[in-house]
Amino acid sequence: MRINKEPNAKIEEGLDPLNWKEQRALGHRMMDDMFDFLEHIGEKPVWTKPSPASRASFEKPLPFLPQSTEEVYNEFRENILPYFKGNIHPRFWSWVEGTGTPFGMLADMLASAMNSNVTIGDHSAMYVDQQVLSWAKIMMGFPASSSGILVSGCSMANITAIQIARNSLESMQIRKLGFSHAQDKLRVYASAETHSCNQKAVEIAGLGTHALRKVPVNAAYQIELESLEQMMEEDRKLGLIPFCIIGNAGTVNTGAIDPLSELAAIAQKNGLWFHIDGAFGALACLVPEFKDQLKGLALADSLAFDFHKWMYMPYEAGCLLVKDPLKHTSSFEMNPVYLLSHERGLAAGPASHNNYGMELSRGFKALKIWMSIKEHGIEKYGRIIAQNIDQAFYLETLIKQEASLELLCPVSLNIVCYRYFSPDLNQEQLNLLNKEIVMRLHEEGIAAPSFTILHGSYAIRVAITNHRSRRPDFEVLVKESIRLGDEALKSLRIH
Ligand SMILES: *Cc1c(COP(=O)(O)O)cnc(C)c1O
Repeated sequence: MRINKEPNAKIEEGLDPLNWKEQRALGHRMMDDMFDFLEHIGEKPVWTKPSPASRASFEKPLPFLPQSTEEVYNEFRENILPYFKGNIHPRFWSWVEGTGTPFGMLADMLASAMNSNVTIGDHSAMYVDQQVLSWAKIMMGFPASSSGILVSGCSMANITAIQIARNSLESMQIRKLGFSHAQDKLRVYASAETHSCNQKAVEIAGLGTHALRKVPVNAAYQIELESLEQMMEEDRKLGLIPFCIIGNAGTVNTGAIDPLSELAAIAQKNGLWFHIDGAFGALACLVPEFKDQLKGLALADSLAFDFHKWMYMPYEAGCLLVKDPLKHTSSFEMNPVYLLSHERGLAAGPASHNNYGMELSRGFKALKIWMSIKEHGIEKYGRIIAQNIDQAFYLETLIKQEASLELLCPVSLNIVCYRYFSPDLNQEQLNLLNKEIVMRLHEEGIAAPSFTILHGSYAIRVAITNHRSRRPDFEVLVKESIRLGDEALKSLRIH
């Protein structure tokens, strides 16, 4: 049905600016504002609670009519920008979050301008994506013959990997037959410290929560190899089928690196898929001192890591590498008539990304990776990652010098867990007090560590994947933790 029955009845329209000159000027202003913002980010509080006015502004009705771009930008400046999360700030060490860079920001703008959907076709973005994957293989010691895919983050990379591991069980043909043969028998093994997204991955693969068997860890929070072998043995006796081991290259709680080469050997001996979750820790392979501890990365069947964490690239950019490209594609390949590759023309070009993962439409995230790696060179990334590790050991030293602070786990990579300690308080009181310290550090805009629980103790947790941090930032953290701890001790009256 023709919507407009009258021929020539209407002036047609589009979404480009009516006044290019004006929008160009606004664009230049935005660029200047963002450079000012980033250049002086360290002078701002690390966190500012979104104001009631800002919160209320997000409850306005759906706009049916246009607003000037100037007005929209002003709303951004007033209600959005001031309440940034903080991970661009030098004293942000919460969860595990990367910092981003100005050049990365520009790259994202260029990618947005091109608006390439990097799925299929013979166009530049496909080749940039391919080159980034080739570089990732070199960085991680994977052979050029392996395959991979850029995804939104390590969660997606882990989910994709478990899907491939599951579908690679030849006797089961799960992709084709579903679970008709597998029943409830398949088991995956990972340390109790493995990231929750791996639990999710196992559940999404249809295996059930209980299919992820959590192996105890040693005092350094690394997987216990003997327990692993014992658990697999017991499961086999019960008629279950171990099919995958997940190794951690840097756990989220403490940064522990599992004995990867030993895990690879156990996986190989038992005919299991070996996946590594290397979200941030895998990048320590760029630091000469960690090369040896991480040489097992190259032994994995699949390896997941993030560019947006410890390579400081703007969100989002995660990566999965897979040793056997056939196993990779046979998990996802789809060749519908409308996606067939042609010999020539736009529909020629590299293999469709659709055959390597769950997504069809994909943004041009490869560009910011490609441009950033060129801007700095891999050696410099290695130096900044090493600098973050040095800072973690420096913070450990500072904490050890303070009678009122207690280290809760030895530092092994870039994560430091500590707490304020007073011998008069019991565990529960200490937990409350330290939680209070974390909240006050945030509320006063001083620093943003996060937290975890280690053996029942609430830990102030500092995860350093921040190229803007400098040693004095950690001195501030220590000083302020003590001040706030002393204050909270008084005001909470938990004596
Ligand atoms: C952050 C993290 C993930 C999840 O990665 P996202 O990029 O946030 O999806 C997985 N594993 C570990 C160890 C992590 O630190």
